[in-house]
Amino acid sequence: MFELLFLGTSASAPSIHRGLSAHLVIARDYRFLIDCGEGTQRQILRSGVGFKRLNRILITHSHLDHILGLAGLLSTLVRWESLDELEIYGSRWALDRVQDLIYRVVFRNERLPIPIHLVDVQEGVFFETRDFTVSAFPVTHRGAGCLGYIFQEKARRPFLVERAEALGVPFGPERAKLVRGESITLADGRVVQPDDVLGSEVRGARYVHTGDVGRTDDIVEYVRGAHALVTEATYLSADAELAQQFGHMTAAGAAQLAAEAGVQTLILTHLSRRSRERDVLAEAQAIFPNTYVARDFDRFSINKERGVTKLVSEQVDSRAALESADESEPLELLDDSPLEL
Ligand SMILES: [Zn+2]
Ligand SMILES: [Zn+2]
Repeated sequence: MFELLFLGTSASAPSIHRGLSAHLVIARDYRFLIDCGEGTQRQILRSGVGFKRLNRILITHSHLDHILGLAGLLSTLVRWESLDELEIYGSRWALDRVQDLIYRVVFRNERLPIPIHLVDVQEGVFFETRDFTVSAFPVTHRGAGCLGYIFQEKARRPFLVERAEALGVPFGPERAKLVRGESITLADGRVVQPDDVLGSEVRGARYVHTGDVGRTDDIVEYVRGAHALVTEATYLSADAELAQQFGHMTAAGAAQLAAEAGVQTLILTHLSRRSRERDVLAEAQAIFPNTYVARDFDRFSINKERGVTKLVSEQVDSRAALESADESEPLELLDDSPLEL
């Protein structure tokens, strides 16, 4: 199971109600921050999730609305929080800019209190535990080295307790061995094979995050079969030309991708200040009904059996304010697209 916490859902520049791109993926004991737009540090504080174990940061691409928050967050994390080291993952192009930000601005002429590893990510799996993998795939946006990320739980064969009991397999290490795929010999000399007590394989939860993306035909296969797809909807169809010009997607384009790739649930983020949330939602849902538009502090769980569930936010007060504000939120008719540098 994975859990998502959105910390920033605005494109290019923050709005009154939305911070810049950042969200947290929680996978068992691991936490991954994906992107770190300006203001992420305060969003983490407001979310109540805390800084503990926040030692892996994945960067989708080098645009400032996705990395500027690293400056503030890192200066706090390495001085005040009990981390032993920090890993920042991204393409070489993204890491070049991150390196300048860290070593030429934040920690200029200083020794780092803890090691910060910049991990140059190539396409494919770059992080693996017993239970899940994280892999990267190339996306077309603006500039080189833009990446999407896939969190994939490993497939499992369930242990069939009744069958094990019928065969007389005792509790304890014998059962663990069978789960690991090894045969065992019982006290009476009978041999039990893993196939005798394991059911057929059940695929694990799959979560795909595209980051900013301007083209979808080359990513359909990476997205295919996701329980949850988080992608951008910077524009509405009325502004499809601008979307194309700046390498972004429309809400309709995102919905078509979700439909074509057979995903279960679509979650849209990276909204322009030009767009109203309800218009983005309506445009996407006309094509792909099971769509959410994420707001800051929204949480979702992704489970292989139950699919995607929106969790009740702990930020009751700010959500109430946000919800009433959204109804009357005026369109900010700013052409903010070129600001994404
Ligand atoms: Zn962006
Ligand atoms: Zn971008």
